Order: sequence, then structure tokens, then C-alpha cells
Amino acid sequence: MTTNRRDFLKIAGLTMGLSLIDTKSAAAPLLKCLGSKTGQKMKLSFQPYNLILKHVFTVASNSRATTPVVLTQIEYDGIIGYGEASMPPYLGESQESVTKFLSKVDLSPFNDPFQLDEILGYIDSIDEKNTAAKASIDIALHDLTGKILNQPMYKIWGLSKENTPNTSFTIGIDAPEIIREKTLEAGDQFKILKVKLGRNNDKEIIETIRSVTDIPLCVDVNQGWTDKQMALDMIYWLKEKNVIFVEQPMKKENPDDMAWLTQHSPLPTIADEALQRLPDVKRVHQVYSGINVKLMKCGGMREAHKMIELARALDMKVMIGCMTETSCAVSAAAQLSPLTDWADLDGNLLIKNDVYDGVKIINGKVTLNDRPGIGIKKLR
Ligand code: MG
Repeated sequence: MTTNRRDFLKIAGLTMGLSLIDTKSAAAPLLKCLGSKTGQKMKLSFQPYNLILKHVFTVASNSRATTPVVLTQIEYDGIIGYGEASMPPYLGESQESVTKFLSKVDLSPFNDPFQLDEILGYIDSIDEKNTAAKASIDIALHDLTGKILNQPMYKIWGLSKENTPNTSFTIGIDAPEIIREKTLEAGDQFKILKVKLGRNNDKEIIETIRSVTDIPLCVDVNQGWTDKQMALDMIYWLKEKNVIFVEQPMKKENPDDMAWLTQHSPLPTIADEALQRLPDVKRVHQVYSGINVKLMKCGGMREAHKMIELARALDMKVMIGCMTETSCAVSAAAQLSPLTDWADLDGNLLIKNDVYDGVKIINGKVTLNDRPGIGIKKLR
């Protein structure tokens, strides 16, 4: 089967690193192996799945022991690409809304999984929201195209796995003795810890952690601080405690105070709740020092990649985060991690019934493997 010039340019655009190859001399053998098969169709399937957490997760409003996700797959020419939607409560998605969205998807007009612009443009047009459902298609397509090319996505993007950052591990809000215990446990395996702040015992939590370890910390305030001067005083105090950045210190609806805080802060400030998708990057520029990119917020790997490139062009810091999810979505995010300053990719470590084997954390570092696509193998 042949691939025409237009298809080849699309594939070359996707692969970036390969686009430098001289098309006359080197493309011919490449075209053969990349060729799309006329008449082949992509087949989407999906199933809801409940993740069982290793520890009950407590937030102010409730405790939970499970997290709902939807697992997707796209089959093409005997090759299967895997994807996943996980449902952060604040994005308003559920297994019902995701399966309803996925039921509307019709991939039959597309003959070639490398038509990512066309396919994902169509997926985005189905509904304004549903970014987790969109991400589940995007991830499956990247896994599929990587498998067809027989290369991991990070290599296709020309990235090097030596450049992956350490990942943080999150210590939740808890009683001091539990915090101490969890810190001791995590301190052996991680080079950086993430601490949830934003209540009235922030200093006590930090002091508790500092009583057992001096490894670097980052803090996530989840919009919890209300006064900008108090926030600035707190950041100066945290800097003395070897905290390296502060995530979402104040309400996302208050960009003026937030811009003032960033301007005066001795530590980088990172936007999380304040941004979701590509157009938001420009909006938070000069309001925060950096952005926390998550596949479930932005609709997948393709848009996440664009957000990171734009943030870099604007001289912003970048971190990549995740939800509680299987090694599928976490491994997909990890493919982009060589482009970031910090990673918070611990979501798959919190669950008992992972469906895939994928990215590993070795000595605290996000460690990519050489499997094609997003680098996962199905376990069950
Ligand atoms: Mg956050």
C-alpha cells in the first residue's frame, strides 16, 4: 500500500525528528513502513473501571476508597492503542458523561490514525467540555501511532529520557503523627515531596515534615490563601524551609492579587486550577511564574505539548501533573516530562488494581522505557 506526499508530510510533521530526513533519498523505505492501509478503519471501544486506592483519601468534604475511570482502546490494522479518562471532581465529569461522549464519537470518516489534527479537531468539536473523555481518545491515538512507527512517543518528539525530572510524592493533610510516618516512608523513595497546605495549620505541617527530613518540598495551596500580604510572608517563611515552588496559592478568580504576589515572591508560583487549555497559557502569563499541565484538563498529549512549547516561549516554568489514574494516563504524561521542570506523576502509585505496566519511578526519577507508543503493557 502506498502513502501519498500529503500523508507523508503529515506524518513527518507529527514525527518532527524525522521531518529533517531528505524526502528524495531517504523517504522511500520510510514511506513503505508508514503507509496507511486503504480501507482499514479505526475501531473505538471503552469500558468504565473503578480504581481501588491503597489508602482511603480524605479531603475536607469526604473520604473515598475508589476512583472511577474509563479505559479506551482504538484498534487499527490489528494494532491496539490504549487510552484513559480519569475524572477529577472539579472538572465535572463522571463515567456516565465520559461514556455518553464516547458513544457519540464516529471515527469511520477517518482512514488514517496519523490524521491527528483532523481527528482531534473533530473530537474537540463534539462538545465544549469533556476534556477527560477527549484525552482518552488523544492518548489512544498517540499510543497507536507510536506503535505503528514502532517508537516511543518521547523519541518521536525528539526528546531524551535522560532529561526526565524527579517526581514529587504528595503528602496529604493529616494528623501530625500520620504525616511524620508518611514522610519517613516516602523520603526513602522520592527526592521531592509535595505538601498540601491552605488550612490554618500550614506552619505546623511543614515543621512536622522538617522534623524528619530536609529533602526539598513543593507546596500546593489549592487556592487556600486569601490575603496577598499574608501569602507573601508565608512564602518567605517557606523559602527558609527549603520549599522550591508554590502551586495555586490564591483564588483563580483574583488575577490582580496573584500577579502582585508573583512579582514579589522569592519562589516561583505555579497555576493549576487557574488554567486548563492552550488559550489559558497566555492569560496566566505574568500572573504566575509557571503552569501545571495535566492531560485530563487540556484534552490530551497533543494540546499538552503545545501548552508546554508556548509556556517555554513565554519564559514560564512548566510542571506536568496527573490525577489518580492507571499507568496508562500517567505513562502518557511521562512521555512529555523531559520538557518540564518538575513532575507530579504519582497517581498510579496510589492504586491497588492497575491495569497496565508502564513508566517507573526509580530513585525518585520518572524513568521511561523503550516500548513503542506511550510505553505500556496490559496486565489484565
Ligand atoms: Mg494542584
